[in-house]
Amino acid sequence: MPDFPLWPQCNIGCVFCSNPVEGYRHTTDKYAFEEIRRKVFDYKRGLQTFVKFDEVRDYFNLTGGEPTLHPDFLKILALIRTEFPQNLIRLLTNGRTLADPDFARRTCGIAGLPFEAAVPMFGGDAKSHDAISRTPGSFAQTSEGLRNLARHRKPGQIVEIRIIMTKVQARFLDGLLDYLLAEFPWVDRVVFLYEEIEGFAELYKDRLLFSQSECAAHLDRNYEKLRRFKDARLYHFSLCTVPTRLWPHVWNTLAGFKVTWLDGCRSRCRYREQCVGVHRSYQRHLGAPDIAPIEAERPVTLSGDPYHPVLSFDGDPVRA
Ligand code: SF4
Repeated sequence: MPDFPLWPQCNIGCVFCSNPVEGYRHTTDKYAFEEIRRKVFDYKRGLQTFVKFDEVRDYFNLTGGEPTLHPDFLKILALIRTEFPQNLIRLLTNGRTLADPDFARRTCGIAGLPFEAAVPMFGGDAKSHDAISRTPGSFAQTSEGLRNLARHRKPGQIVEIRIIMTKVQARFLDGLLDYLLAEFPWVDRVVFLYEEIEGFAELYKDRLLFSQSECAAHLDRNYEKLRRFKDARLYHFSLCTVPTRLWPHVWNTLAGFKVTWLDGCRSRCRYREQCVGVHRSYQRHLGAPDIAPIEAERPVTLSGDPYHPVLSFDGDPVRA
């Protein structure tokens, strides 16, 4: 899964942004179409091209900044689709540009299949959403962008909403979920990501960080709402920090180099094979205080799939 940054600038200012603080936003000269075209062809020839996940060759994450702000975004999308007709293209966008219906229609048309758009939402109203994006008007535009994706996507194109779980976000979580269930029940997937503290976010880490188990408790409080989404997923959580009834929602997506294991993981944890491990930034910033080996069996059915290890919870959900 190469992360393919297309454009360093962004049109929102999230407090948890993982982009570098210095020397990134004003490097647009490195992202000219010809430079990106060269990278695409180098990658096709098997050369080392991307910083992150270069070795995984079946899909692209188009990132930034905000990738759709690139002046030649649609041309780049067409190039990637032509050169890699089978690969999944996942567009990580804040959705504001998709508020233009013509741009949304052309993006969906050019992207073809397989294609996913992943859009973050922060709050269930303008006040809460715009407080996190730090951009007035972004709630209305991102919401309209999602509606345009619903109108213009082709059969088989996937729309995902991402919720970046920080301490600030948790305050707005319940209202956000109510809004999503009422306005966007058609979305294919809602992903809750435990925040990786990197880049700009490090400046605000005291306001952002809380433990994984505190974070999981906020999600667990909304257990019934999570179950109403077509597909609700938790990314970047160690299994021991998550109530068992949420385990079927846990997906393992962290790259190996981002993960470490603690003593008890290797020697005493019954679910070591099913667990993603401990994120290095979690250990560095918080000391991973709630990581504890699971010694007793839990009432779950395992899937054998390392990415989605737990098929079902078989206990009493009220007492999980
Ligand atoms: S103790 Fe380690 S292996 Fe076990 S669930 Fe926690 S992080 Fe995963």
